[in-house]
Amino acid sequence: MGNCFFCKMANGEIPTNTVYEDDDVRVILDINPVNPGHCLVIPKTHAANIYEIEPEILSKAMAVAQKIAVKVKKATGCDGINILQNNEEAAGQTVFHFHIHVIPRKKDDKAFTYKTISMTDEEFINIKNIITEGD
Ligand code: 5GP
Ligand code: ZN
Repeated sequence: MGNCFFCKMANGEIPTNTVYEDDDVRVILDINPVNPGHCLVIPKTHAANIYEIEPEILSKAMAVAQKIAVKVKKATGCDGINILQNNEEAAGQTVFHFHIHVIPRKKDDKAFTYKTISMTDEEFINIKNIITEGD
């Protein structure tokens, strides 16, 4: 993807605050962090989102996210960590090159949460059938 700036950052063509790099991924500090130590795990090959990424690269990126979570936890003394991965605009994706957020959290930082809904038993069965249809 010639035009993708995350491709350029992942491959070292644009300077970044890199905290980890290997043959497949680069991990950088997010420029607009939720808290200090907020990292992005960025594969070096382009895929827009979870629907398109090669499972092998996804596994490698997630294994690195685990390594970084442990390191960030130790380094920052945070109280918790969110692993976040957004797909499509409706879900909050703003950069259309797959990446995994590693977000340190402090107790009561109220950085973000999500609202839940109630569903009836019938609605659960209905949505389960829709998702598993054709398996
Ligand atoms: P998304 O909303 O797509 O899941 O996440 C995109 C993330 O990339 C955001 O958290 C945003 O702050 C970060 N970001 C966008 N542009 C840059 C940049 O040029 N450098 C760095 N380090 N992070 C960026
Ligand atoms: Zn890209």
